[in-house]
Amino acid sequence: MATKSKLALLGGPKAVTSDAGGVFKWPIITKEDEDAVLEVLRRGGMSDLDVTMQFEKEFAVWQGMKHVLGFINGTAALQGAMFGCKLGVGDEIISPSVTYWATALPCFALGATVVFAEVDPTTLCLDPKDIEHRITPRTKAIVVVHYLGHPADMDPIMAIARKHRLKVIEDVSHAQGGLYKGRKVGTFGDVAAMSLMSGKSLAIGEAGILATNDLEIYERAVALGHYERFGEEITTESLKPFVGIPMGYKWRMHQLSSAVGRVQLKYYDVRCKEIRKSMNYFWDLMEGVPGLRAHRTPPGSNSNMGGWYAPHGLYRPEELGGLSVTRFAQAVSEEGSMCSAGVNAPLHLHAIFNTCDIYGHGKPTRIAHSDRDLRQPRGSLPLSESICSRTYAIPWFKKYRPEIIQEHANAFRKAAENYKELLAEDPGNPPTLGGWHFFTHR
Ligand SMILES: *Cc1c(COP(=O)(O)O)cnc(C)c1O
Repeated sequence: MATKSKLALLGGPKAVTSDAGGVFKWPIITKEDEDAVLEVLRRGGMSDLDVTMQFEKEFAVWQGMKHVLGFINGTAALQGAMFGCKLGVGDEIISPSVTYWATALPCFALGATVVFAEVDPTTLCLDPKDIEHRITPRTKAIVVVHYLGHPADMDPIMAIARKHRLKVIEDVSHAQGGLYKGRKVGTFGDVAAMSLMSGKSLAIGEAGILATNDLEIYERAVALGHYERFGEEITTESLKPFVGIPMGYKWRMHQLSSAVGRVQLKYYDVRCKEIRKSMNYFWDLMEGVPGLRAHRTPPGSNSNMGGWYAPHGLYRPEELGGLSVTRFAQAVSEEGSMCSAGVNAPLHLHAIFNTCDIYGHGKPTRIAHSDRDLRQPRGSLPLSESICSRTYAIPWFKKYRPEIIQEHANAFRKAAENYKELLAEDPGNPPTLGGWHFFTHR
């Protein structure tokens, strides 16, 4: 058994020897995608709306939401969702600190700001127990992320939001098509916004999308950045005087993306099912390995991990003699698998949320319109600040190839089971772990 042999890092044989073939390839592009793109390209329809509107219609049926709006990217879709929820000058959102920056940062452009909350160490999503004490009279919305494919715990979050009359924005960029207790993520809050860029699990090119059942939210998002739709069809009274010119942005989805989107969406559920089978198989093989825990919904529950975007594992160094995740990840990589330490670095520690005066207010944008200094220094969110030392990336299998998945699981198992041999030359974790952008999409 490979796990008994010497670690590759210390001169032993590698656990992974097979060629991965197409196991990691994503998105899966066929002639159907190519033909769809060429059709738009050859007729010069890149800036038209016909294919995008067709895609929106199909997406609305698939997502189970009434109003769907395509965007140039997920960042713009999130800003549209925030504006849709009437976020404005002086308002506050509550968002997790451990996420990609676009979950929170677009609120600055609206004059609003963010108060970060902790993530739950098991789900890695916004911790419902850390929300309520952060609510002030200025809080307008909670932004939830279904982080790395894991659904956030929506029942308690929605209960808190309803009690305090807050809007809920779901950032579904990591979890398109995923389920929470049998219901699709992105259908719980007032509005969902998500990225569909090429690295995500629903990968259609540079693109984003917004979905809501609230017509006013939809029309406000239209008003901000979709000029051709901001016409006589608008029904929201407060918007009517301004139809014709949008409120400052141009956010139409590129039709080469929506053409790909229509094809990708058709096969998405089937392809995700194979991803889930593969990833669950990987974690089943890892059952009982010391120090390593799955980041997944409980098997047999009615929740799932969607397309399992950028999968990660939970790390318990206390079970491995304190071995740093950095050293562990290095050992796994030397075995021929892929592993890196950490997830997103916590946003509250970055200068953009602390000292940067983006718009020339004469003070940091984070507190430009605040009634108090709500910045959160190092030490204020201890769990978020330590989460990178307790997480690691694992391979993202798109195809169910048991022999290949076994080799990769062996690489992880081998590094963990031989942890004592790694302790001697463990340099420990560097002062900062995790990235502001993200992992290599593979
Ligand atoms: C990718 C991502 C976004 C931004 O989407 P883009 O399409 O890259 O603009 C927003 N939120 C999260 C959580 C993301 O991972």
